[in-house]
Amino acid sequence: MARYANVIVDISMEKLDKTFQYRIPEKLRENLREGMQVVVPFGNGMRTLTGFVVELTDNCEFEPSRMKELIGIAQDKIPLEGQLIALARWIRRTYGGTTNQALKTVLPVRKKVREQTRRHLVRRISLEESRGYLELFEQRHQTARFRLLAALMDTPKLDYRLAAEQLHLTGATVKKLEEMGIISIETDTVFRNPVRPWELEPHPFALTASQQAIVEDIRGREAQGDRRPSLLYGVTGSGKTAVYLELIAQVLEEGKEAIVLIPEIALTFQTALRFYKRFGDRVSIMNSRLSQGERYDQFERARQGKVRVMIGPRSALFTPFRNLGIIVIDEEHEASYKSETVPRYHARETALERARMAGALVVLGSATPSVESYEKARQGIYSLYKLEQRILGRALPKVEVVDLREELKEGNRSILSRRLKELIEDRLKKRQQVILFLNRRGYAGFVSCRACGHVIKCPHCDVALSLHTGGRMLCHYCGYEEQARRECPSCGSPYIGAFRAGTQQVVEVVGREFPAARILRMDLDTTKNKDGHEKILEAFSEGRADILVGTQMIVKGHDFPEVTLVGVLAADLSLYTGDYRASERTFQLLTQAAGRAGRGREEGIAVIQTYSGEHYSIVAAAAQDYEMFFEKELSYRRLMEYPPTAHLLAIYLSHKNRESLETGAGMLRDVIKSQEEASKLQVIGPADAYVARVNDIYRKVLYLKSQEAERLLRIKEELELLYQRDEELWQLNIQFDMNPMNGY
Ligand code: ADP
Ligand code: ZN
Ligand code: ZN
Repeated sequence: MARYANVIVDISMEKLDKTFQYRIPEKLRENLREGMQVVVPFGNGMRTLTGFVVELTDNCEFEPSRMKELIGIAQDKIPLEGQLIALARWIRRTYGGTTNQALKTVLPVRKKVREQTRRHLVRRISLEESRGYLELFEQRHQTARFRLLAALMDTPKLDYRLAAEQLHLTGATVKKLEEMGIISIETDTVFRNPVRPWELEPHPFALTASQQAIVEDIRGREAQGDRRPSLLYGVTGSGKTAVYLELIAQVLEEGKEAIVLIPEIALTFQTALRFYKRFGDRVSIMNSRLSQGERYDQFERARQGKVRVMIGPRSALFTPFRNLGIIVIDEEHEASYKSETVPRYHARETALERARMAGALVVLGSATPSVESYEKARQGIYSLYKLEQRILGRALPKVEVVDLREELKEGNRSILSRRLKELIEDRLKKRQQVILFLNRRGYAGFVSCRACGHVIKCPHCDVALSLHTGGRMLCHYCGYEEQARRECPSCGSPYIGAFRAGTQQVVEVVGREFPAARILRMDLDTTKNKDGHEKILEAFSEGRADILVGTQMIVKGHDFPEVTLVGVLAADLSLYTGDYRASERTFQLLTQAAGRAGRGREEGIAVIQTYSGEHYSIVAAAAQDYEMFFEKELSYRRLMEYPPTAHLLAIYLSHKNRESLETGAGMLRDVIKSQEEASKLQVIGPADAYVARVNDIYRKVLYLKSQEAERLLRIKEELELLYQRDEELWQLNIQFDMNPMNGY
């Protein structure tokens, strides 16, 4: 039973760092919990304040004789703020970082900011007139103007930023329509919902029998007290969102609130509108570009009950609803749910914890569930629901695999296989659009043989080695190293090396092959500028280009109805990135990429070019068979003891001096080894990080692996304490990452 309580008395940005420590009277020790509201003496006089317990501890932080005693518990029930504080504590314990960093992530802190004005686009002309203009815009191929006006016909008032983003509009387009007197730009200080009351669609269509069955089963289980989270596995377009909408409607009916997490990149205008139309001004949408003040504003409206459905990426999870009834996590497999800054929390796992505290339902949805979630569903920890067909009987695209080894044998050394070339030619002739996708990720290249497809892997970790300067090949898990080869150890061919082609080269090659084609490129380089992203997408969706060449950015969340061919140039690029999730990511990317083809009326084809046609990720993606992929992937994870069959704690180390880093990392390893628990876990590394140097700071990583997450958490706590006590000694910057997703 802890003897001291750390209490915060004011939840505002400036004051979060300030906790006060109180002695806990004997009689309160048993009942006091983190997150509870307590009454404490304050200042010199007789003043008392209420505050929240952020931490219970035996660690006395100042002179015991001068410490005051806590007066009492304000209320037994843990209030909303208390729940969020308890959530912050859970985040800190699970993912590392300080209590303050966790509190700042979770609490809707007050911060004085200048009030932001919000701009709206408002239609000034009648529907009749609008139709006339629409025809005109269509004739003149002014598709951006067309899109904006069409959207305004649905909804006469739109949030400027949301509309510009989702409809890919430039300022010039908006200005032009304003000049033409078609729209006006209105400014107001309060956020208003873009949907008018008469435009609501409370019951847009009847659910299909399978959708209805899922809703009923989830609700039925809840009624019986079965609070297991639900995993909804359904191909894109199978009607998952409609299921979420129905569940949310029922929850709202009961006077409770809903949170919907959607990765930012997948939060399209159409999706937002569906929620608005169904729930009207009870919906609020967040995005990561909101300022602190705007975020606080939205949270405040939620706390007051003016907003009842919050939609957004990661941070929407912390909406201060008092009576949370459901959390929906769409695209639950997305790596962007994992925070890449401290605290490195996973929004999906954190959502499960929040729902547990609030007694809320959780629904996870995906067309390619994460291996973690699907395994939990199979073990019965989650309840599994499937939607196996697209609504309205729309077909999935056809997928063809082209073996690049065969191409080489036939003397074709181009990045484009003969089959892909032939299909591109055909599409150009038919004036249909093509997407060429280079799923390049990571920084270092793997080494493979273009004649036989052999990939050089770490003998200890079964992940690809990465080529570094000086001809060294490195494993980023264990530090294993060998000299680069000049010929293939499997077939003896000299065609061995790192695949270096980037989007720039692809554009050059395609340009040479098809001189008449208009080609656009979208990658980190071309989207660096503000709006770069939108401009490229706009140009492509307006038909100002025939071929779009790009990286993962282009395969998520966008609908281009005229695209009937998607070419994946080298599926291997994401397959051997040197981390254990490479196969999973590849399967997801290929499935998503294939899904980009044939969203309109025409049937689509996806062509996957690869040197590893027999790899299960590619075989399963081609067959569009998730179960096949899952079985293979899980047995690999089990064999190598990677999550979810074991837990992995990454420790990221950095220092500006390479020698100090090496010494420090070695010391840390010894400290870990000397821990009592160490004999029961694997310590791997330290090895160079993927990016071994950033801004002249050197980086290394150490992995701890164990079957039991608890064991890793205990070691982490221990190390955090040691680190706090003796920062001098370590001289290192240390960060923890539990079950890392994004590499370091
Ligand atoms: P997902 O979220 O799985 O991609 P959606 O819920 O967006 O699928 O459904 C795909 C399309 O089918 C949407 O345009 C949606 O409006 C429509 N739809 C979904 N359910 C039904 C239904 N029961 N009846 C008619 N149309 C539906
Ligand atoms: Zn070979
Ligand atoms: Zn290794």
